[in-house]
Amino acid sequence: MHPRFHTAFAELPASLQTALEPLMRHDDFPSMLTAQQVDAVKDACGLDNDTLAFALLPLAAACSITPISHFQVGAIARGVSGNLYFGANIEFSGAPLQQTIHAEQCAVSHAWLRGEKSLASITVNYTPCGHCRQFMNELNSGTGLAIRLPGRAPATLGDYLPDAFGPKDLNITTLLMDTINHGFTLAETDALSAQALDALNQSHAPYSNAQSGVALETHDGKIYTGRYAENAAFNPSLPPLQAALVLMTMSGADCQQINRAVLIERNGANLSQFDATRATLAALGCQNLTHHRV
Ligand SMILES: [Zn+2]
Repeated sequence: MHPRFHTAFAELPASLQTALEPLMRHDDFPSMLTAQQVDAVKDACGLDNDTLAFALLPLAAACSITPISHFQVGAIARGVSGNLYFGANIEFSGAPLQQTIHAEQCAVSHAWLRGEKSLASITVNYTPCGHCRQFMNELNSGTGLAIRLPGRAPATLGDYLPDAFGPKDLNITTLLMDTINHGFTLAETDALSAQALDALNQSHAPYSNAQSGVALETHDGKIYTGRYAENAAFNPSLPPLQAALVLMTMSGADCQQINRAVLIERNGANLSQFDATRATLAALGCQNLTHHRV
């Protein structure tokens, strides 16, 4: 089992430990449960969807990286497929606070990057901040997304974000997590660039049309990709590097073990991820960033 889970796992009810141990036994546990695994754990432990998500929150929070706040937030996103995806807050020593990934952003991006098409609910161990409420308002699940918090009545995103401003106010009809392929191509054919291009082609940038994607390769040859997730209110947008770091962290890899990175952006776009990507990568000890435009 990945060492980050040891303390939280030991405090779970015995029946849940027994059901989860075979799934979490190896270091590369992907911090998600398939719908089939969810059903098996629910049956074995007598839990429903909400009580299982609450029970898993300490494991999600154990994935957090908080060198600045030391405040661990965990989130569990449940996809319409029935899969569960962990999320946690991730902070970066030596980078501005604006580069921080919130737990809800992490869980949402995690689900999206693993191919989930829409979310049914988000369970969080603390009430979502305003930034995350706005970030989640970009999702194709809309304000009906179920929000579950410990000790609170079941509610929806609409309850937590009344009189919301969102994509529809800007006449945007393609929402975050909708299936999309922008269809851009690139002459370079190395595997890392091809994966970054694939991420760009699935990115969500309806406001700027500055689609972008990142691919990271670790020293042991594993590749993690991230897609840009733009927001109607701009500032809660999640850059493609952050999305790739979400997948990397949730997969159990160490963000300080990046060997090289590729960022691909649109030609002629009126914004660029390059400077922020380079700076945050440098804070993580990686100086090897290749930049392409399509
Ligand atoms: Zn937040």
